[in-house]
Amino acid sequence: MKEIFSPDGYLDNELPEYEYRESQLVMAEFIQDKLIENQNGIIEAGTGTGKTMAYLIPALKYALSHEKKIAITTETKALQKQLVDKDIPAAQKIFKEYLGLDFKFALCLGSSNYPCRRRFERFLKKGSFEKSDMKHFERLSSLFKEKRIFTFFDAEMPGHLWEEIGRDSETCDQQRCPMTTICPFQAARREWAQADLLVMNHYLFFSNIASGKSYLPVSEAVIFDEAHSIESIASRQLGFSIDHDFLINLLQRFYQRGKYGIINNFKSIKLHDEAIHSVEIIAKESQIFFEKMREKFHGAETVRRIITVTNEGRNLTEQMKRLIGILELAEQDFEEEDLRIEFDPARNRLIAYCESLISFLNLSYENYVYWIERSDRELLGNISLTGRPVNINEIMRQEVLSFYESSIFVSATLSIKNDFSFFMSTIGFERGSGKVLDSPFNHKEQMILYICRYNKSS
Ligand code: SF4
Repeated sequence: MKEIFSPDGYLDNELPEYEYRESQLVMAEFIQDKLIENQNGIIEAGTGTGKTMAYLIPALKYALSHEKKIAITTETKALQKQLVDKDIPAAQKIFKEYLGLDFKFALCLGSSNYPCRRRFERFLKKGSFEKSDMKHFERLSSLFKEKRIFTFFDAEMPGHLWEEIGRDSETCDQQRCPMTTICPFQAARREWAQADLLVMNHYLFFSNIASGKSYLPVSEAVIFDEAHSIESIASRQLGFSIDHDFLINLLQRFYQRGKYGIINNFKSIKLHDEAIHSVEIIAKESQIFFEKMREKFHGAETVRRIITVTNEGRNLTEQMKRLIGILELAEQDFEEEDLRIEFDPARNRLIAYCESLISFLNLSYENYVYWIERSDRELLGNISLTGRPVNINEIMRQEVLSFYESSIFVSATLSIKNDFSFFMSTIGFERGSGKVLDSPFNHKEQMILYICRYNKSS
Protein backbone atom coordinates (compact mmCIF):
# COMPACT_ATOMS: atom_id res chain seq x y z
CA MET A 1 0.00 0.00 0.00
CA LYS A 2 2.91 2.33 0.74
CA GLU A 3 3.94 2.71 -2.91
CA ILE A 4 0.41 3.88 -3.69
CA PHE A 5 -0.45 6.09 -0.70
CA SER A 6 2.89 7.55 0.49
CA PRO A 7 4.18 11.02 -0.50
CA ASP A 8 5.54 10.71 -4.06
CA GLY A 9 3.52 7.51 -4.40
CA TYR A 10 1.24 6.67 -7.33
CA LEU A 11 -1.73 8.65 -6.01
CA ASP A 12 0.44 11.67 -5.29
CA ASN A 13 1.86 11.55 -8.83
CA GLU A 14 -1.47 11.07 -10.49
CA LEU A 15 -4.03 13.13 -8.56
CA PRO A 16 -3.32 16.88 -8.33
CA GLU A 17 -5.46 17.30 -5.21
CA TYR A 18 -3.91 14.32 -3.37
CA GLU A 19 -2.44 14.90 0.10
CA TYR A 20 -0.69 12.21 2.09
CA ARG A 21 -2.63 11.27 5.24
CA GLU A 22 -1.19 8.67 7.53
CA SER A 23 -4.64 7.53 8.68
CA GLN A 24 -5.58 6.75 5.07
CA LEU A 25 -2.58 4.47 4.66
CA VAL A 26 -3.33 2.78 8.02
CA MET A 27 -6.92 2.18 6.93
CA ALA A 28 -5.88 0.75 3.55
CA GLU A 29 -3.41 -1.63 5.22
CA PHE A 30 -6.01 -2.71 7.78
CA ILE A 31 -8.51 -3.54 5.02
CA GLN A 32 -5.89 -5.31 2.93
CA ASP A 33 -4.99 -7.52 5.92
CA LYS A 34 -8.64 -8.35 6.61
CA LEU A 35 -9.26 -9.33 3.00
CA ILE A 36 -6.14 -11.49 2.74
CA GLU A 37 -6.84 -13.19 6.08
CA ASN A 38 -10.53 -13.71 5.20
CA GLN A 39 -11.60 -11.85 8.32
CA ASN A 40 -14.31 -9.35 9.12
CA GLY A 41 -13.41 -5.81 10.11
CA ILE A 42 -14.88 -2.53 11.27
CA ILE A 43 -13.22 0.77 10.65
CA GLU A 44 -14.28 4.16 11.87
CA ALA A 45 -12.40 6.93 10.14
CA GLY A 46 -13.09 10.61 10.65
CA THR A 47 -13.93 13.14 7.98
CA GLY A 48 -11.08 13.89 5.62
CA THR A 49 -9.36 10.49 5.92
CA GLY A 50 -10.04 9.71 2.28
CA LYS A 51 -12.00 6.57 3.12
CA THR A 52 -13.16 5.77 -0.39
CA MET A 53 -9.66 5.34 -1.83
CA ALA A 54 -8.56 3.65 1.40
CA TYR A 55 -10.93 0.74 0.78
CA LEU A 56 -11.10 0.87 -3.01
CA ILE A 57 -7.37 0.33 -3.60
CA PRO A 58 -6.92 -2.71 -1.29
CA ALA A 59 -10.23 -4.15 -2.52
CA LEU A 60 -9.11 -3.98 -6.14
CA LYS A 61 -5.62 -5.27 -5.40
CA TYR A 62 -7.09 -8.20 -3.55
CA ALA A 63 -9.74 -8.89 -6.21
CA LEU A 64 -7.17 -8.93 -9.02
CA SER A 65 -4.42 -10.88 -7.26
CA HIS A 66 -6.81 -13.52 -5.85
CA GLU A 67 -9.33 -13.58 -8.73
CA LYS A 68 -12.21 -12.61 -6.46
CA LYS A 69 -15.26 -10.47 -6.97
CA ILE A 70 -15.89 -7.68 -4.44
CA ALA A 71 -19.11 -5.81 -3.71
CA ILE A 72 -19.09 -2.24 -2.44
CA THR A 73 -22.35 -1.01 -1.02
CA THR A 74 -23.20 2.55 0.04
CA GLU A 75 -26.23 4.32 1.41
CA THR A 76 -26.37 7.44 -0.73
CA LYS A 77 -26.55 8.01 -4.46
CA ALA A 78 -24.04 10.85 -4.05
CA LEU A 79 -21.37 8.44 -2.85
CA GLN A 80 -22.18 5.92 -5.58
CA LYS A 81 -21.84 8.68 -8.14
CA GLN A 82 -18.52 9.77 -6.66
CA LEU A 83 -17.29 6.18 -6.81
CA VAL A 84 -18.42 5.50 -10.36
CA ASP A 85 -17.60 8.88 -11.90
CA LYS A 86 -14.44 9.82 -10.03
CA ASP A 87 -12.74 7.36 -7.68
CA ILE A 88 -13.00 4.13 -9.67
CA PRO A 89 -11.84 5.73 -12.96
CA ALA A 90 -8.90 7.30 -11.04
CA ALA A 91 -8.05 3.89 -9.55
CA GLN A 92 -8.37 2.34 -13.02
CA LYS A 93 -5.77 4.75 -14.37
CA ILE A 94 -3.35 4.07 -11.53
CA PHE A 95 -3.74 0.30 -11.80
CA LYS A 96 -3.14 0.41 -15.53
CA GLU A 97 -0.20 2.79 -15.55
CA TYR A 98 1.68 1.73 -12.45
CA LEU A 99 0.71 -1.89 -11.93
CA GLY A 100 -0.11 -2.94 -15.48
CA LEU A 101 -3.48 -4.26 -14.29
CA ASP A 102 -6.92 -3.74 -15.74
CA PHE A 103 -10.25 -4.40 -14.04
CA LYS A 104 -13.93 -4.28 -14.79
CA PHE A 105 -16.55 -2.68 -12.60
CA ALA A 106 -20.31 -2.31 -12.81
CA LEU A 107 -23.00 -0.28 -11.10
CA CYS A 108 -25.92 -2.52 -10.12
CA LEU A 109 -29.42 -1.08 -9.87
CA GLY A 110 -32.77 -2.59 -8.93
CA SER A 111 -34.35 -4.38 -11.89
CA SER A 112 -37.27 -1.97 -12.30
CA ASN A 113 -34.72 0.68 -13.33
CA TYR A 114 -34.02 -1.24 -16.55
CA PRO A 115 -36.39 -1.31 -19.53
CA CYS A 116 -38.02 -4.55 -20.62
CA ARG A 117 -37.83 -4.83 -24.40
CA ARG A 118 -40.67 -7.29 -24.46
CA ARG A 119 -43.06 -5.18 -22.38
CA PHE A 120 -42.12 -2.18 -24.50
CA GLU A 121 -43.01 -3.95 -27.78
CA ARG A 122 -46.19 -5.27 -26.24
CA PHE A 123 -47.24 -1.89 -24.89
CA LEU A 124 -46.70 -0.27 -28.29
CA LYS A 125 -48.74 -3.01 -29.94
CA LYS A 126 -51.61 -2.52 -27.48
CA GLY A 127 -51.51 1.20 -28.25
CA SER A 128 -53.23 2.20 -24.99
CA PHE A 129 -51.39 5.49 -24.49
CA GLU A 130 -51.97 9.16 -25.27
CA LYS A 131 -50.72 10.72 -28.49
CA SER A 132 -48.66 13.16 -26.42
CA ASP A 133 -46.69 10.21 -24.98
CA MET A 134 -45.41 9.25 -28.42
CA LYS A 135 -42.27 11.39 -28.08
CA HIS A 136 -41.20 9.31 -25.06
CA PHE A 137 -41.55 6.08 -27.00
CA GLU A 138 -39.59 7.50 -29.91
CA ARG A 139 -36.79 8.41 -27.53
CA LEU A 140 -36.91 4.93 -26.04
CA SER A 141 -36.81 3.32 -29.49
CA SER A 142 -33.64 5.22 -30.33
CA LEU A 143 -32.09 4.28 -26.96
CA PHE A 144 -32.82 0.63 -27.72
CA LYS A 145 -31.01 1.08 -31.03
CA GLU A 146 -28.04 3.06 -29.66
CA LYS A 147 -27.28 1.56 -26.28
CA ARG A 148 -26.70 -1.94 -25.12
CA ILE A 149 -27.48 -0.98 -21.52
CA PHE A 150 -29.57 1.96 -20.38
CA THR A 151 -31.83 2.74 -17.45
CA PHE A 152 -34.77 4.83 -16.29
CA PHE A 153 -32.36 7.73 -15.70
CA ASP A 154 -31.31 7.80 -19.38
CA ALA A 155 -34.88 7.45 -20.64
CA GLU A 156 -36.20 10.55 -18.83
CA MET A 157 -39.71 9.17 -19.03
CA PRO A 158 -42.71 9.93 -16.78
CA GLY A 159 -43.05 7.37 -14.00
CA HIS A 160 -46.51 6.14 -15.05
CA LEU A 161 -45.22 5.20 -18.52
CA TRP A 162 -42.08 3.59 -17.17
CA GLU A 163 -44.28 1.38 -14.99
CA GLU A 164 -45.69 -0.12 -18.18
CA ILE A 165 -42.36 -0.89 -19.80
CA GLY A 166 -39.85 -1.29 -16.94
CA ARG A 167 -38.56 -4.75 -16.14
CA ASP A 168 -41.01 -6.67 -13.96
CA SER A 169 -39.31 -9.38 -11.92
CA GLU A 170 -42.41 -11.54 -11.85
CA THR A 171 -42.96 -11.71 -15.59
CA CYS A 172 -39.37 -11.79 -16.76
CA ASP A 173 -38.50 -15.36 -17.63
CA GLN A 174 -35.15 -15.25 -19.35
CA GLN A 175 -35.26 -18.94 -20.26
CA ARG A 176 -38.35 -18.41 -22.39
CA CYS A 177 -38.06 -14.77 -23.43
CA PRO A 178 -37.21 -14.48 -27.15
CA MET A 179 -35.59 -11.06 -26.61
CA THR A 180 -32.83 -11.87 -24.13
CA THR A 181 -30.07 -11.14 -26.64
CA ILE A 182 -31.30 -7.58 -27.19
CA CYS A 183 -32.47 -6.96 -23.63
CA PRO A 184 -30.65 -4.13 -21.74
CA PHE A 185 -31.35 -5.78 -18.39
CA GLN A 186 -29.82 -9.08 -19.46
CA ALA A 187 -26.84 -7.19 -20.93
CA ALA A 188 -26.39 -5.46 -17.55
CA ARG A 189 -26.49 -8.79 -15.73
CA ARG A 190 -23.85 -10.23 -18.06
CA GLU A 191 -21.72 -7.18 -17.30
CA TRP A 192 -22.16 -7.71 -13.53
CA ALA A 193 -21.15 -11.34 -13.89
CA GLN A 194 -17.87 -10.37 -15.55
CA ALA A 195 -17.01 -7.45 -13.27
CA ASP A 196 -14.29 -7.62 -10.61
CA LEU A 197 -16.01 -4.91 -8.61
CA LEU A 198 -19.73 -4.31 -8.12
CA VAL A 199 -21.14 -1.06 -6.77
CA MET A 200 -24.66 -0.94 -5.35
CA ASN A 201 -26.67 0.62 -2.57
CA HIS A 202 -27.68 -0.93 0.76
CA TYR A 203 -31.32 -1.19 -0.38
CA LEU A 204 -30.38 -3.42 -3.28
CA PHE A 205 -27.92 -5.41 -1.20
CA PHE A 206 -30.62 -6.33 1.34
CA SER A 207 -33.34 -6.85 -1.29
CA ASN A 208 -31.00 -9.38 -2.83
CA ILE A 209 -30.84 -11.16 0.53
CA ALA A 210 -34.64 -11.03 0.82
CA SER A 211 -34.86 -12.68 -2.61
CA GLY A 212 -32.60 -15.56 -1.59
CA LYS A 213 -29.52 -13.94 -3.23
CA SER A 214 -30.98 -14.64 -6.65
CA TYR A 215 -30.51 -11.21 -8.19
CA LEU A 216 -26.84 -10.26 -7.91
CA PRO A 217 -23.87 -12.41 -8.83
CA VAL A 218 -22.10 -13.88 -5.82
CA SER A 219 -19.09 -11.94 -4.61
CA GLU A 220 -16.50 -13.22 -2.18
CA ALA A 221 -16.15 -10.09 -0.06
CA VAL A 222 -18.31 -7.09 0.73
CA ILE A 223 -17.43 -3.59 1.89
CA PHE A 224 -20.20 -1.52 3.47
CA ASP A 225 -19.46 2.18 3.25
CA GLU A 226 -21.77 4.45 5.29
CA ALA A 227 -22.23 1.34 7.42
CA HIS A 228 -24.01 3.29 10.18
CA SER A 229 -27.23 3.06 8.13
CA ILE A 230 -27.33 -0.66 7.41
CA GLU A 231 -29.45 -1.56 10.44
CA SER A 232 -32.39 0.65 9.46
CA ILE A 233 -32.14 -0.15 5.75
CA ALA A 234 -31.84 -3.90 6.30
CA SER A 235 -34.85 -3.84 8.62
CA ARG A 236 -36.84 -1.88 6.05
CA GLN A 237 -35.93 -4.12 3.12
CA LEU A 238 -36.66 -7.28 5.06
CA GLY A 239 -40.01 -6.05 6.42
CA PHE A 240 -43.22 -4.83 4.73
CA SER A 241 -45.40 -1.75 4.40
CA ILE A 242 -48.94 -1.85 2.96
CA ASP A 243 -51.70 0.70 2.43
CA HIS A 244 -55.18 1.19 0.97
CA ASP A 245 -54.08 2.93 -2.25
CA PHE A 246 -51.73 0.10 -3.18
CA LEU A 247 -54.54 -2.42 -2.73
CA ILE A 248 -56.99 -0.38 -4.82
CA ASN A 249 -54.44 -0.06 -7.65
CA LEU A 250 -53.83 -3.77 -7.48
CA LEU A 251 -57.57 -4.54 -7.58
CA GLN A 252 -57.91 -2.33 -10.65
CA ARG A 253 -55.53 -4.62 -12.47
CA PHE A 254 -58.10 -7.36 -11.94
CA TYR A 255 -61.24 -5.37 -12.59
CA GLN A 256 -62.21 -1.78 -13.25
CA ARG A 257 -65.69 -0.92 -14.47
CA GLY A 258 -65.65 -0.01 -18.17
CA LYS A 259 -61.98 -0.88 -18.63
CA TYR A 260 -59.96 -3.94 -19.51
CA GLY A 261 -58.95 -6.04 -16.47
CA ILE A 262 -57.48 -9.50 -15.91
CA ILE A 263 -60.89 -10.89 -14.93
CA ASN A 264 -62.20 -10.13 -18.46
CA ASN A 265 -60.22 -13.16 -19.63
CA PHE A 266 -62.02 -15.64 -17.38
CA LYS A 267 -63.80 -18.23 -19.52
CA SER A 268 -66.26 -19.33 -16.83
CA ILE A 269 -69.04 -16.77 -16.41
CA LYS A 270 -69.69 -18.03 -12.89
CA LEU A 271 -66.07 -17.46 -11.81
CA HIS A 272 -66.01 -14.14 -13.68
CA ASP A 273 -69.03 -12.84 -11.74
CA GLU A 274 -67.78 -14.19 -8.43
CA ALA A 275 -64.38 -12.57 -8.94
CA ILE A 276 -65.91 -9.16 -9.76
CA HIS A 277 -68.13 -9.41 -6.71
CA SER A 278 -65.12 -10.31 -4.59
CA VAL A 279 -63.04 -7.39 -5.93
CA GLU A 280 -65.86 -4.97 -5.11
CA ILE A 281 -66.26 -6.32 -1.58
CA ILE A 282 -62.50 -6.16 -0.94
CA ALA A 283 -62.42 -2.51 -2.05
CA LYS A 284 -65.29 -1.71 0.34
CA GLU A 285 -63.85 -3.71 3.23
CA SER A 286 -60.47 -2.08 2.75
CA GLN A 287 -62.08 1.36 2.98
CA ILE A 288 -63.84 0.37 6.23
CA PHE A 289 -60.72 -1.23 7.69
CA PHE A 290 -58.39 1.69 6.99
CA GLU A 291 -60.94 4.14 8.41
CA LYS A 292 -60.94 2.04 11.59
CA MET A 293 -57.14 2.19 11.63
CA ARG A 294 -57.37 5.98 11.40
CA GLU A 295 -59.40 6.00 14.62
CA LYS A 296 -56.45 4.45 16.44
CA PHE A 297 -54.42 7.68 16.19
CA HIS A 298 -54.69 10.03 19.14
CA GLY A 299 -55.07 13.68 18.13
CA ALA A 300 -52.47 14.79 15.62
CA GLU A 301 -50.05 11.92 16.21
CA THR A 302 -48.68 10.42 13.02
CA VAL A 303 -47.23 7.12 14.22
CA ARG A 304 -48.76 4.58 16.58
CA ARG A 305 -47.19 1.32 17.57
CA ILE A 306 -49.49 -1.72 17.55
CA ILE A 307 -48.86 -4.10 20.44
CA THR A 308 -52.08 -6.11 20.62
CA VAL A 309 -53.81 -8.30 18.08
CA THR A 310 -56.15 -6.25 15.84
CA ASN A 311 -59.69 -7.62 15.58
CA GLU A 312 -60.71 -5.44 12.64
CA GLY A 313 -59.85 -6.46 9.09
CA ARG A 314 -60.95 -10.10 9.40
CA ASN A 315 -63.61 -9.70 6.69
CA LEU A 316 -61.01 -8.11 4.46
CA THR A 317 -58.53 -10.98 4.79
CA GLU A 318 -61.33 -13.55 4.32
CA GLN A 319 -62.41 -11.85 1.08
CA MET A 320 -58.85 -11.65 -0.14
CA LYS A 321 -58.39 -15.36 0.49
CA ARG A 322 -61.62 -15.96 -1.41
CA LEU A 323 -60.39 -14.00 -4.43
CA ILE A 324 -57.04 -15.83 -4.32
CA GLY A 325 -59.02 -19.11 -4.38
CA ILE A 326 -61.05 -17.95 -7.41
CA LEU A 327 -57.85 -16.94 -9.22
CA GLU A 328 -56.46 -20.40 -8.59
CA LEU A 329 -59.55 -21.96 -10.20
CA ALA A 330 -59.28 -19.65 -13.21
CA GLU A 331 -55.53 -20.12 -13.64
CA GLN A 332 -55.92 -22.46 -16.62
CA ASP A 333 -57.47 -19.59 -18.62
CA PHE A 334 -54.09 -17.84 -18.51
CA GLU A 335 -51.84 -20.39 -20.15
CA GLU A 336 -51.16 -18.13 -23.10
CA GLU A 337 -47.92 -16.28 -22.41
CA ASP A 338 -49.23 -12.77 -23.05
CA LEU A 339 -52.00 -13.26 -20.49
CA ARG A 340 -49.72 -14.95 -17.99
CA ILE A 341 -47.48 -11.87 -17.99
CA GLU A 342 -50.29 -9.89 -16.37
CA PHE A 343 -51.87 -12.62 -14.29
CA ASP A 344 -48.88 -13.98 -12.33
CA PRO A 345 -47.49 -10.74 -10.88
CA ALA A 346 -50.93 -9.40 -9.93
CA ARG A 347 -51.89 -12.64 -8.19
CA ASN A 348 -48.50 -12.91 -6.41
CA ARG A 349 -48.81 -9.34 -5.17
CA LEU A 350 -52.29 -10.03 -3.84
CA ILE A 351 -51.00 -13.10 -1.97
CA ALA A 352 -48.05 -11.13 -0.53
CA TYR A 353 -50.38 -8.28 0.52
CA CYS A 354 -52.75 -10.71 2.21
CA GLU A 355 -49.88 -12.43 4.06
CA SER A 356 -48.50 -9.09 5.27
CA LEU A 357 -51.94 -7.99 6.46
CA ILE A 358 -52.50 -11.25 8.37
CA SER A 359 -49.05 -10.91 9.94
CA PHE A 360 -49.93 -7.33 10.95
CA LEU A 361 -53.33 -8.20 12.44
CA ASN A 362 -52.02 -11.19 14.41
CA LEU A 363 -48.58 -9.74 15.25
CA SER A 364 -47.35 -13.03 13.83
CA TYR A 365 -43.58 -12.57 13.93
CA GLU A 366 -42.00 -12.32 17.36
CA ASN A 367 -38.95 -10.45 16.16
CA TYR A 368 -41.07 -7.78 14.42
CA VAL A 369 -42.30 -4.38 15.49
CA TYR A 370 -45.62 -3.26 13.96
CA TRP A 371 -47.00 0.25 13.58
CA ILE A 372 -49.46 2.44 11.69
CA GLU A 373 -48.35 5.69 10.15
CA ARG A 374 -49.70 8.71 8.32
CA SER A 375 -48.05 11.80 6.94
CA ASP A 376 -48.28 14.86 9.19
CA ARG A 377 -49.33 16.99 6.23
CA GLU A 378 -52.22 14.69 5.39
CA LEU A 379 -53.99 13.68 8.54
CA LEU A 380 -56.87 12.42 6.41
CA GLY A 381 -54.60 10.90 3.76
CA ASN A 382 -53.34 7.41 3.17
CA ILE A 383 -52.44 5.26 6.18
CA SER A 384 -49.77 2.62 6.00
CA LEU A 385 -49.31 -0.50 8.11
CA THR A 386 -45.71 -1.51 8.64
CA GLY A 387 -43.95 -4.55 10.07
CA ARG A 388 -40.18 -4.73 10.39
CA PRO A 389 -37.70 -7.03 12.09
CA VAL A 390 -36.33 -5.47 15.29
CA ASN A 391 -33.05 -7.34 15.30
CA ILE A 392 -31.12 -7.92 12.16
CA ASN A 393 -28.20 -9.56 13.95
CA GLU A 394 -29.26 -13.14 13.21
CA ILE A 395 -29.88 -12.35 9.54
CA MET A 396 -26.55 -10.53 9.34
CA ARG A 397 -24.76 -13.46 10.97
CA GLN A 398 -26.24 -16.01 8.59
CA GLU A 399 -26.50 -14.07 5.36
CA VAL A 400 -23.49 -11.78 5.53
CA LEU A 401 -20.88 -12.45 8.20
CA SER A 402 -20.65 -16.18 7.69
CA PHE A 403 -21.53 -16.06 3.99
CA TYR A 404 -18.78 -13.77 2.69
CA GLU A 405 -15.11 -14.61 3.13
CA SER A 406 -14.70 -11.11 4.46
CA SER A 407 -17.13 -8.32 5.41
CA ILE A 408 -15.80 -4.83 6.09
CA PHE A 409 -17.84 -2.05 7.70
CA VAL A 410 -16.71 1.54 7.17
CA SER A 411 -18.13 4.83 8.43
CA ALA A 412 -17.21 8.04 10.23
CA THR A 413 -19.64 7.18 13.06
CA LEU A 414 -19.76 3.60 14.33
CA SER A 415 -18.26 3.59 17.82
CA ILE A 416 -19.36 5.06 21.13
CA LYS A 417 -16.26 6.55 22.73
CA ASN A 418 -14.05 4.32 20.58
CA ASP A 419 -16.03 1.23 21.56
CA PHE A 420 -17.75 -0.81 18.81
CA SER A 421 -19.76 -3.05 21.20
CA PHE A 422 -23.13 -1.52 20.38
CA PHE A 423 -22.63 -1.62 16.62
CA MET A 424 -21.23 -5.15 16.85
CA SER A 425 -24.25 -6.43 18.78
CA THR A 426 -26.62 -4.74 16.31
CA ILE A 427 -25.15 -6.55 13.34
CA GLY A 428 -24.21 -9.81 15.08
CA PHE A 429 -20.48 -9.19 14.56
CA GLU A 430 -18.51 -11.69 16.64
CA ARG A 431 -15.30 -12.69 14.91
CA GLY A 432 -13.00 -9.96 13.64
CA SER A 433 -11.68 -6.67 14.91
CA GLY A 434 -12.13 -2.94 14.56
CA LYS A 435 -10.05 0.20 14.38
CA VAL A 436 -10.81 3.85 15.10
CA LEU A 437 -8.87 6.48 13.17
CA ASP A 438 -9.03 10.15 14.01
CA SER A 439 -9.80 12.71 11.38
CA PRO A 440 -6.66 14.35 9.98
CA PHE A 441 -8.51 17.68 10.07
CA ASN A 442 -7.63 20.19 12.72
CA HIS A 443 -11.25 20.91 13.54
CA LYS A 444 -10.45 23.84 15.83
CA GLU A 445 -8.56 25.59 13.05
CA GLN A 446 -10.51 24.43 10.04
CA MET A 447 -14.13 24.57 11.17
CA ILE A 448 -16.67 27.31 11.65
CA LEU A 449 -19.88 26.50 13.48
CA TYR A 450 -22.92 28.48 12.37
CA ILE A 451 -26.00 28.49 14.58
CA CYS A 452 -29.18 29.72 12.97
CA ARG A 453 -31.07 32.14 15.22
CA TYR A 454 -34.34 32.01 13.34
CA ASN A 455 -35.28 28.43 12.75
CA LYS A 456 -38.88 28.33 11.56
CA SER A 457 -39.44 24.69 12.48
CA SER A 458 -38.22 25.03 16.11
S1 SF4 B 1 -35.42 -10.98 -20.59
FE1 SF4 B 1 -36.93 -10.18 -19.16
S2 SF4 B 1 -36.50 -7.97 -19.03
FE2 SF4 B 1 -35.50 -8.76 -20.88
S3 SF4 B 1 -36.93 -8.44 -22.54
FE3 SF4 B 1 -37.25 -10.51 -21.79
S4 SF4 B 1 -38.88 -10.34 -20.26
FE4 SF4 B 1 -38.06 -8.28 -20.62
